[in-house]
Amino acid sequence: MKLSQTYKVSRTFRREDTVVEIGGVVIGDVQICVIAGPCSVESRKQLLAVAHAVKQSGATMLRGGAFKPRTSPYAFQGLGEAGLWLLREAREQVDLPIVTEVMSCEQIALVAAYADVLQIGARNMQNYPLLHAVSDAGKPILLKRGAGNTLHELLMAAEHILSRGNAQVILCERGIRTFETATRYTFDINAIPVLKELTHLPVIADPSHGVGQTQHVPSIAKSAIAAGADGIIVEVHDNPDDALSDGAQSLTPTMFERLMVDLERIVGAVDRTLSPAYEPVAAL
Ligand code: PEP
Ligand code: MN
Repeated sequence: MKLSQTYKVSRTFRREDTVVEIGGVVIGDVQICVIAGPCSVESRKQLLAVAHAVKQSGATMLRGGAFKPRTSPYAFQGLGEAGLWLLREAREQVDLPIVTEVMSCEQIALVAAYADVLQIGARNMQNYPLLHAVSDAGKPILLKRGAGNTLHELLMAAEHILSRGNAQVILCERGIRTFETATRYTFDINAIPVLKELTHLPVIADPSHGVGQTQHVPSIAKSAIAAGADGIIVEVHDNPDDALSDGAQSLTPTMFERLMVDLERIVGAVDRTLSPAYEPVAAL
């Protein structure tokens, strides 16, 4: 595929990698970024337990949804503003930047007051008024690929954001819908090197939604880093069996710690590094 070189997202428009900086954390540079945390913010106890655990294992940012896009209107929809208060408290305690989803234009001012990175979820990738409004908020944006969208459509969605003057965009491959039913989605590993060729924007991987089953998340995370991803966003829960969303694909803190140990070797093999603060856990 070729992209018009006039597009702001294109590698021909800008040759050097874009490095997005969020409160001292960089994405798109030699260092791999590891965003970890629960799918949904459920309670103070849950969020703080997970936040402390992932920080200790070397995560560089904390994720957690306060406004949740759920298939069923009867499923947990997130704590809303109360979830944002908890995210702020967690950030104060563990000193990690916060990534959280914004689902509508009306939510942007509120969410932007708490979040360091605004996440646009897969379901909203082509919500153009939302992309424009979120661009205007002036914060870094994590743009997830829609489950039924091509890479060209993802890049054009990013172009909508860049065209409004906000170039701090991180792309995220999170799995697409295929004929395969053995997994929740099909993680498109092709997307990683193809996007890195076509665009200067950082590209990260979401292995949790990409495969949808806890036991396979580490393999997909490692393969994405080996394929050249600039980072991962991974769901971690202190008690996945009781999670209010996505428990079946959440790692426990112990599994996450193990993944970080394994990632250190993969990262070294592709001449990247984990967080400078990362220290391997000798016991594992
Ligand atoms: C999420 O990150 O929890 C989420 C809802 O992701 P996606 O938009 O990729 O489905
Ligand atoms: Mn989720």
